[in-house]
Amino acid sequence: MLLKRIEMQGFKSFADKTVLDFVNGATAVVGPNGSGKSNISDAIRWVIGETRAKSLRGSNMHDVIFAGTEKRKPLNFAEVSLVLDNSDHIFPVDYEEVVVTRRLFRSGESVYQINRTNCLLKNIHELFMDTGLGRDGYSIIGQGNVSQILSTKAEDRRNIFEEAAGVSKYKYRKDEASRKLTHVEENLVRINDIVSELETQINPLKNQSEKAKKYLDFYGEYKTLDINMSLVTIQKNDTNLEKNEELRRSVQDELNSLREQESETEGKINNLYNQSLQCDEEQTNKNSLLVENEAKVLQNENEIKILENNIRNNYSNITRIETEIENIRTKNLEREEKIKEHEEVIKNNNEIAQQFLKGFDT
Ligand code: ATP
Repeated sequence: MLLKRIEMQGFKSFADKTVLDFVNGATAVVGPNGSGKSNISDAIRWVIGETRAKSLRGSNMHDVIFAGTEKRKPLNFAEVSLVLDNSDHIFPVDYEEVVVTRRLFRSGESVYQINRTNCLLKNIHELFMDTGLGRDGYSIIGQGNVSQILSTKAEDRRNIFEEAAGVSKYKYRKDEASRKLTHVEENLVRINDIVSELETQINPLKNQSEKAKKYLDFYGEYKTLDINMSLVTIQKNDTNLEKNEELRRSVQDELNSLREQESETEGKINNLYNQSLQCDEEQTNKNSLLVENEAKVLQNENEIKILENNIRNNYSNITRIETEIENIRTKNLEREEKIKEHEEVIKNNNEIAQQFLKGFDT
C-alpha cells in the first residue's frame, strides 16, 4: 500500500492548506525539534479514525484545531485528507485512489468521507481493517508504542500480531456477531416471557372465543335476516324509484317549460327595462325642454305685456293724432274758405283794376 499524499488545513501547527506528496522512496521526514513532524503522524492517525485525544497528544479533540499564535487568530475547523494508492485494490472499492477525509468544527460538528462522500466512522474502521493502517494498526508506531511490541505481556503483543495476520477483520466480525447473538438471546428471553404470559391468558381466551363463535353464529343469522329485509326494502324502493322516476320526468318537463317561460319573461323584462331606460332619457330631455319652454313662455308673457302696453299707448296716440288731424282738417277747410274768399276778393280787385286800366287807355 502506498501513501501518495496528505492534505492538511487547520490541523495543529498547519494553519494554511499544506500538501505533502510522498513520492516512491520517501523514508523519513526530518526537521528541528518542534517543527511539526509528529503533527504529521498525528494527522494520519486522526484521519484514519483515532478518537482518543491523548493518543494525539491533546486533552480533548478540539486541541487538533489550529489554536492560533501571537500573529494569527485561531481557526474554526481542522481538515485532513489522506490519499492512498489503490491500483492493487487492497481496499475493496473500484477506484484507483482512495481519499479518506476527516473534518472537525469547533462547534462539535464532525464529518468523515471516503472519496469525498460522507460516511460513518465505522465505515473508515472497516475500510482499514487488516491493512495494518487501522486505528489499532501497526503501520504507525509512536514513540511510546515501541515498548508495546517489545513488551513481555502476551496480551500487548497479541493485538499487533492479530492485525498483521489479518485476523482483526474476523475478530471484529466475531465481536459483531456475538453482539448480535446477545441481542437475539435477550429478545428470546423477552419472547419466552411473553409466551408464558400468553399461556395464562389461554383459558379466559377460550371462553371468550366460544362466546365469539356464538356471537358469530347469531351474527350470521342476523345478517341473513338483515339481507332478506334489505331485499324486500330494495324491491319496495325499486317500485318507489320507478314512480319517483316518472314523477321526476314530469316535474322535469314542467321545469323545462317553466325555464323557457322564465327566459321568455326575462327577455320581455329586458325589453321593458330598455324601454324604461329610453323613456327615462326622453323624460329627462322633455323635462329640460319643458323648463326651457316655461322660461320662454314667461319671457313671452313679459314681452306680450310690454307690447300690450305699447299698443295701448299707440291707441291713445292714434286717438290724439286723429283729433289733431280733425282739427287740422277743420282749420284747412276754414283756410280754404278764406282762400276762396281772398281769391274772390283778388278776382274782384283784378276786375276793378282791369276796368281802371281800360279807363286809362281810353
Ligand atoms: P519533536 O521532534 O520535539 O517531537 P516535532 O517536530 O515532532 O517535535 P511536533 O510535536 O509535531 O514537532 O509539533 C509541535 C508544535 O506544534 C509546537 O510548536 C506546538 O505549538 C504546535 N502545535 C501543536 N498543536 C497545535 C495547535 N492546536 N495549534 C497550533 N499549534 C500547535
